[in-house]
Amino acid sequence: MTTEYAPLYVVPTPLGNLADLSERARGVLCAVSWVAAEDTRHSAPLLRHMGAKARLLAAHAHNENAAAERILALLAQGEAVALISDAGTPGISDPGARIVAHAHAAGARVIPLPGPCAAVTALSAAGFSEAHWLFFGFLPSRSGQRRAALKTIASLSCALAFYEAPHRILESVADMYEELGAGRTLLIARELSKQFETLRRLPLGEAADWLAADPMRQKGEFTLIVSGATEERPANEGERLLRLFLAENLPVKQAARLAATLSGQGKNALYAQALTMIKEQKTEDSDICG
Ligand code: SAM
Repeated sequence: MTTEYAPLYVVPTPLGNLADLSERARGVLCAVSWVAAEDTRHSAPLLRHMGAKARLLAAHAHNENAAAERILALLAQGEAVALISDAGTPGISDPGARIVAHAHAAGARVIPLPGPCAAVTALSAAGFSEAHWLFFGFLPSRSGQRRAALKTIASLSCALAFYEAPHRILESVADMYEELGAGRTLLIARELSKQFETLRRLPLGEAADWLAADPMRQKGEFTLIVSGATEERPANEGERLLRLFLAENLPVKQAARLAATLSGQGKNALYAQALTMIKEQKTEDSDICG
């Protein structure tokens, strides 16, 4: 006799704004008998808020196989289960994949609901025209491994989506600049759908300075979208452009800003370089004049 499983629903929950919970998600969470949650204490208020009576069971990174067994047993008894994570879509840099795999393997129906996901939300606001994008999620926490990981994707022409923790944001952005190179644009999406939501689109080379300029800019949750690799640009592209603009007598600030925008290199570094160039030029001129 084959087992008739109840369905496993995969339900995205809001990243920060409760109004982003879809009607369908609300309906499912109120209809199922069990909700498998990454952190039951974290999710209990959300369920209470919507008046859901479902019982909660823990399904996190450290008990996922055991949780999968328990969930399958419930599904086999005809009890539908909704899988949720702390925020966003389960299985996306969150637990859930192993539970879903178990359900498929057993022949249970898996019903995913569309909904909030930080990477997709940030990508929609990046304004990059690449036809493809790569979701990388979290980079390794150690710089050496992080740079090695970045090297493996540096030549891809698709846009790149990363999640990053606030205490690593500065060093990650600096490593991105070193490994992915100049000529990239970065979208910093901070605290999406929350009170201090910040979106900043800027040359990758300027990002570390921008973040460092105000400690508040380094707080909260971050999703980073980096534009894809374009045709090879020389490492000294910024310097070449600077020389060109200064030779045309453009004001130093404007020359540095334009060179930064076109090369993707940092504006402040190019400004400092422009001042050095001007000083060197003056020394050369005075040497010639005696
Ligand atoms: N499953 C989630 C999703 O669908 O987006 C992601 C979970 S992952 C453990 C958490 C990371 O997602 C955070 O560290 C941050 O990088 C990103 N993130 C989550 N909420 C965010 C928000 N409101 N704004 C920006 N990034 C966010």
